[in-house]
Amino acid sequence: MLKPRPSIVNLGPYHSPIVSRSGLSLDLNESMAGCSPRVLARLRLLSAADLSLYPEREIGERQIANFLGIAPEQVLVTNGMDEALSLLFTAYLDPGDELLFADPTFVMYPMLGEALAANVVRVRSGEDLVLPVSDLLAHISPHTRVIAIANPNNPTGLAATRADLLKIAEAAPDAAVLVDEAYFEFGGESLITDLARHPNLFVARTFSKAYGLAGLRLGVLTGAAAQIDYLRRLSLPFNVNSVVLACLEEALADQPFVREHAAQIKQGREQLTQLFAELRLRFWPSQTNFVLVRIGPLAKAFMESMRRRGILVRDSSANPGCEGCVRVTVGTPSQMEGALRAIREAIAETRR
Ligand code: PMP
Repeated sequence: MLKPRPSIVNLGPYHSPIVSRSGLSLDLNESMAGCSPRVLARLRLLSAADLSLYPEREIGERQIANFLGIAPEQVLVTNGMDEALSLLFTAYLDPGDELLFADPTFVMYPMLGEALAANVVRVRSGEDLVLPVSDLLAHISPHTRVIAIANPNNPTGLAATRADLLKIAEAAPDAAVLVDEAYFEFGGESLITDLARHPNLFVARTFSKAYGLAGLRLGVLTGAAAQIDYLRRLSLPFNVNSVVLACLEEALADQPFVREHAAQIKQGREQLTQLFAELRLRFWPSQTNFVLVRIGPLAKAFMESMRRRGILVRDSSANPGCEGCVRVTVGTPSQMEGALRAIREAIAETRR
């Protein structure tokens, strides 16, 4: 019988990240504020040729390079950041090579590493869930080929310092060190300006969060020109669609929209953390558009109670160190009113 490679046969079954779309989705860290009206206006002007011709991603790469203040040769646009991760891991990980990261973190890292038959080396954060920098440094070996760090991190919302991340990049000159800045616009320090001095450093960004374009799928991988050149050879030439490329200029130009959205997110996460403190729940101070909170053994009942109130939140219990934890995406100010009320009621109900 036909069988794929053993690493593929051994992968766990696929489950869509989307559990349901009935109710308010505070489970996927999408933007609940939508996208810039300037992007929508550009979309409405799309012509037939915009759709019938193959996309020219190089135009988008120049726009992004210009925005980030780096050279176009340092930029590869991708079909969401997920594709950037897949390309990067595929380019540097042979079977048996080490992929190093600290738990808890973004679940795609181990999934991709396992698909490539890499040796997945997981270091465990302490109870504070802070990036265990010295432990990561201690686990760098001659076999370490990729180190992946989400900064700020998902699902904790915590950010590491730029100095600590650079320490890791410098300690592993023969490994690709990826700093995943998916939530950069909501807090934390960027390492984009450090690319020039660190030839093994990669920084990835996405338009799925602060720009509110998750459905259009646009990610960005940046790094040393020599390394991005290899990744460009591996990537499919038409990986990014012409619709998102047509909208990119407007998306980048509307920084007031991004700033205003980020300010609302900060307010919303303040409200969430105040409520969690009041309810005497353990939470982690977030620099992202979500907050991780420990509900405890009643987490499932809490989520079910939230669902009955029309709100979906994310079960993070499967992430090492996050047992009994739930991740709540920050919604718009008006959604937050309902969400805060629902959380209060659901906690009261589960504690009864
Ligand atoms: N990295 C992190 C840390 C994320 O949380 C996400 C989205 N959940 C991604 C990357 C991927 O984002 P996208 O593929 O939508 O660009």
